[in-house]
Amino acid sequence: MVSTPPCWSARLAQRATERRAAGLWRQRRHHAPGATRDFAGNDYLGLAREPCLIDAMADGARRYGTGACASHLVSGHLAVHEALECRLAELVGRPRALLFSTGYMANLGTLQALCDGHTQVFQDRLNHASLLDGAALAGARSRRFHHQSLADLDRLLARAPTDAPRLVVTDGVFSMDGDVADIAGLASVSARHSAWLMVDDAHGLGVLGEAGEGCVGRAHGVDEVPVLVGTLGKALGTGGAFVAGSEALIEHLIQFARPYVYTTAQPPGVAAATLAALDILAAEPERRERLCTRIARFRAAAAGLGLPLMDSPTPIQPLVLGNGQRVLAWAARLAERGLAVGAIREPTVPRGQARLRITLSAAHSDADLDALLDALAACQAGEGDAAREATP
Ligand SMILES: *Cc1c(COP(=O)(O)O)cnc(C)c1O
Repeated sequence: MVSTPPCWSARLAQRATERRAAGLWRQRRHHAPGATRDFAGNDYLGLAREPCLIDAMADGARRYGTGACASHLVSGHLAVHEALECRLAELVGRPRALLFSTGYMANLGTLQALCDGHTQVFQDRLNHASLLDGAALAGARSRRFHHQSLADLDRLLARAPTDAPRLVVTDGVFSMDGDVADIAGLASVSARHSAWLMVDDAHGLGVLGEAGEGCVGRAHGVDEVPVLVGTLGKALGTGGAFVAGSEALIEHLIQFARPYVYTTAQPPGVAAATLAALDILAAEPERRERLCTRIARFRAAAAGLGLPLMDSPTPIQPLVLGNGQRVLAWAARLAERGLAVGAIREPTVPRGQARLRITLSAAHSDADLDALLDALAACQAGEGDAAREATP
């Protein structure tokens, strides 16, 4: 009998059926900025709609064109990219920085260029998907340590073979939990075991530190954190990412990071807008102060309502509701009131820990926050009513 290879259409249909049956179907919705109050995005400083960034983006395009037209190593590396790399290196107190098109690619490229099948990679359990994917791209196996457990990391490092280089990898601010990594602790455990430390500060940059330099910044130099990644599409309101470190690290990435070498440089207008965002970051510390006030106010009010807050000092304020259907129900009720929040389920977070991912911004007004808190109180009251009806 001649066997035929499996049919693609049947395979796709089966995967779709399984995902729907598990209640995990993902859907995109149209967001109309202005029509909804956005508590789902990562525009922590309210820069994404700032007129002077928009002007800077248009000016950048007028000056250099809408696209970079080539990769950095061919003819796409423009003066505006170079200027941005210098400013970013300065912000985080590193000798050099290298611009990538996205944070996902910065992590892929860095891990792929640093690691191979022998490298010992140690990752926090809750690290961003791009960090795990980067190690996989390099053919390196990632050992996962318990979230924020220096003791578990120490134990894994102590047991690792000594004939291969070691890399410890962590988020700076955990994207679904909002807690901040213990950089000093991680740096000290890493140093004790001769490992390099790589920190992805996607959500810390622009928000944390004296001047918005993030949770690593100048407080921890290249000796403590040799590999630092920051992204520009969150607090800085534009797009792209960078890796910062020593001259040798950056040259190594230029030589070997395939996600750097084989892609078109980011549009110059985006780089120009990011330069303008860095100007605002330096000139308007009140944005970060306003954000802190919002965080404190939200946490106090949510605690007063008895909502399941996590221990997060950052603008990421998840409410862990446990079950995916419950999260979708709350998010739908909030959407009816014109409030967008993230409904995060597995596999993005572990099973049983589905959550509303609420993010705060300096751009939110007191009225925005009041609307959110009222709606959350209504969700809670609605569940109470439903429970009373169910148990006569
Ligand atoms: C968002 C995010 C990224 C990816 O950055 P993009 O620029 O959106 O590709 C990487 N790491 C972490 C921790 C993130 O939250």
